Amino acid sequence: MSVVGFDFGNESCIVAVARQRGIDVVLNDESKRETPAIVCFGEKQRFIGTAGAASTMMNPKNAISQIKRLIGRKFSDPELQSDLKSLPFAVTEGPDGFPLIHARYLGELRTFTPIQVLGMLFSDLKGIAEKNLNAAVVDCCIGIPVYFTDIQRRAVLDAAMIAGLHPLRLLHETTATALAYGIYKTDLPENDQLNVAFVDLGHSSMQVCIAGFKKGQLKILGHSYDRNLGGRDFDEVLFRHFAAKFKEEYKIDVYQNARACLRLRAACEKLKKVLSANPEAPLNIECLMEEKDVRGFIKREEFEQISAPILERVKVPLAKALADAGLAVENVHMVEVVGGASRIPAVVKIMTEFFGKELRRTMNATECVAKGCALQCAILSPTFKVREFQVHESFPFSISLSWKGASSEVQNGAAENQQSTVVFPKGNSIPSVKALTFFRSGTFTVDVQYTDDSEFQGAAKISTAMIGPFQCTKGERAKVKVKARLNLHGIVSIESATLLEEEEVEVPVTSDPAKEVNKMDTDEQPGSVPPTSGEADVNMQDAKGTAEGDATGVENGVPESTDKPVQMETDNKTEALKKKVKKTNIPVVETVNGGLSQADLQKAVEKEFEMALQDRIMEETKDKKNAVEAYVYDMRNKLSDKYQEFVTESEKDQFISTLQEVEDWLYEDGEDETKGVYIAKLEELKKEGDPIEERYKEHMERGTVISQLAYCI
Ligand code: ATP
Ligand code: MG
Repeated sequence: MSVVGFDFGNESCIVAVARQRGIDVVLNDESKRETPAIVCFGEKQRFIGTAGAASTMMNPKNAISQIKRLIGRKFSDPELQSDLKSLPFAVTEGPDGFPLIHARYLGELRTFTPIQVLGMLFSDLKGIAEKNLNAAVVDCCIGIPVYFTDIQRRAVLDAAMIAGLHPLRLLHETTATALAYGIYKTDLPENDQLNVAFVDLGHSSMQVCIAGFKKGQLKILGHSYDRNLGGRDFDEVLFRHFAAKFKEEYKIDVYQNARACLRLRAACEKLKKVLSANPEAPLNIECLMEEKDVRGFIKREEFEQISAPILERVKVPLAKALADAGLAVENVHMVEVVGGASRIPAVVKIMTEFFGKELRRTMNATECVAKGCALQCAILSPTFKVREFQVHESFPFSISLSWKGASSEVQNGAAENQQSTVVFPKGNSIPSVKALTFFRSGTFTVDVQYTDDSEFQGAAKISTAMIGPFQCTKGERAKVKVKARLNLHGIVSIESATLLEEEEVEVPVTSDPAKEVNKMDTDEQPGSVPPTSGEADVNMQDAKGTAEGDATGVENGVPESTDKPVQMETDNKTEALKKKVKKTNIPVVETVNGGLSQADLQKAVEKEFEMALQDRIMEETKDKKNAVEAYVYDMRNKLSDKYQEFVTESEKDQFISTLQEVEDWLYEDGEDETKGVYIAKLEELKKEGDPIEERYKEHMERGTVISQLAYCI
């Protein structure tokens, strides 16, 4: 079983694997620790990661980046709409209201969903892990931003499935960082709590978490974020500044040219990094557009001035995280900063002032998320023995269930039929199971939704569960227990529904009848009394999940007085009539707002397989072509060197002219052939070359025998 952690950043991704000696970040094919989050579609194949980034400039309209921004968002999402303005590739609205990415692939215009593209990226990352571990990778842990919604989390899981991965957990990035920080600490206090703030300023977003550490555990005390504040926003400030400047000075409008935009953005990102270490920096781009070379220059001071509106926003999540954790700034003992954009000096200054202490960088700022994910995977996997360390995660959103009141209440003239209750309040631990008891006469529906609609801009509804059908044998309303689960990934679902019916049965009396009831009715709830008119028709209970979030550990309610056995006979008799609760499972059909259907997922898996096959064929074709080229060069050298004595002049001339023909062919007609053609070409050459090689080998072997004989004598 594989133990792997993936950090899929908006800009770049990191893969960490667990080996017996510890957690390592592994290198990709290009020997890099970071793999760009880019999929570039080509005429013959896809280029993913480093290869994708290399193709971007040549093929900007087909190079898909910023996938993390697109995943699991509706096309109408205003944040997505604002992102689209600066993306070089085309995105339209799909029939399901989610975006569709347009790209030219294998000679035709095609569309791909963000889930598919993320699946491609995951396949690439999976391949990197597999090459390094020399084994198949399936089990893994994937880092996600804390602010990812239910749909986004489901979309990441779907993408992972497309890549053939099985995430044991989607782990909040800041929690991964906190885990990677805490698990190695040997000096954590036994009783006191060490409070550490982790701030991650990445490519497109900022996340803060405050974690309390004790020996052997960490508890997330508070989370906060700005979904739209990251390094790329600083690039954009510089980009707009120089675009305006160049328009004035050089009369060029980069906005009219996708490639010029990309090049100027890339140059601005570099410039921003230079400004982190230097008080001023130049910006020169040759032939940006209309054959004009441009030159610019900026001081750090000016950069900070023009960035003032975004710098202003850095403090907001810091203050929110403190409030969320219920801590005063003095109670934060340390501040660890990670993420590439946390290197911007103005950002460092704001954060230092806010916390009133020096920021620490003991974590590897780019690798900590992937390492934390690999550690979490190791903790969850039976393959590895990991130091005992518990992660108490907290859920960043409040989740409610809502339903229509029971029909009899409507008849009774209840003013507002729609009711709701918070099931998982903000800060709820993950995983968690809650049980609600409804009193219903037939099939009913329950909606799962975010409690605070304003943050989700009309997309607050997560899913609808249809519960039923069931039959009430007694009375007009049956008691139905509905279980809602917040799973390890932070995804909420209606897990099950059970019809609870009381029956009277005859049982032998044992010494303590109360104990009998406990044994039979462990699932029973206190207070689950059918409502009298005007009372709420639902009761909610905490249900304890096991460590894996399993629902088998159900609540252990104390039976209410009405459930006590009814003693029919005196104590010295052996038979008694008591009430027993009969449980029957009721079907639950959940419709998720925007999830992929099983059939669509299967189709996507097949498509990915086809595309991966095509990529492999193209890679092999390149290898075979290279082999022909290498043979031509190698033979030509050898013919005028070590094979010289083993060919006649005419043989040599003939072969050299064949080699020359093949070389010319490789650059002309044979430039773009199939794998089979290159294999045949090499065979053809070898027919001529092998006899020469044989003669040489025979001679060398004879020579060795002779020299060995000479040695014996
Ligand atoms: P995210 O976490 O937002 O999904 P990511 O993990 O890909 O994205 P990081 O790799 O943490 O993001 O950070 C990338 C950002 O950091 C880029 O905007 C990059 O320009 C910026 N960055 C990297 N080094 C520096 C530096 N020395 N000074 C300023 N910014 C930097
Ligand atoms: Mg990141």
